[in-house]
Amino acid sequence: MPAPPADPSSAERLDRLTPEERSRNMARIRSHNTKPEKIVRQLVTALGLRYRLQRRDLPGKPDLVFGPRRTVIFVHGCFWHQHAHCPAGRIPTGNRPFWESKLARNTQRDTAAKLALQRLGWRVLTVWECETKTPGKLQKRLARLLPPLAPE
Ligand SMILES: [Zn+2]
Repeated sequence: MPAPPADPSSAERLDRLTPEERSRNMARIRSHNTKPEKIVRQLVTALGLRYRLQRRDLPGKPDLVFGPRRTVIFVHGCFWHQHAHCPAGRIPTGNRPFWESKLARNTQRDTAAKLALQRLGWRVLTVWECETKTPGKLQKRLARLLPPLAPE
């Protein structure tokens, strides 16, 4: 896994956080070039599907873009993107207001990006981090959601 980029300003910010917040932040940095994303890319490649990564011109910068299918995939961490009913999405009891407002901003951003993409005619799929722990099942889901294109 590549080392996180040196960023003194974020290191300073980390200094002002509680130990709990700091460890969460470190977890996020470690998972930056994320394993879940790599798993999804491998599964999709194994299905013979072609995609592009993180098109910056699209709202929310989706992780995988399937142009001809007009479909995008976001690979979301269960905690940072608040996967509903998922144990990994549970908000910590310590410093709850901090987490609630921070995570609410993330989910608002996610919703706004999804709506903007849909308005542009994109189908938006979300793969949750916890789904990448059962890759066989996830691959079946992806195969169902991204069937072969009909020949022209
Ligand atoms: Zn989850």
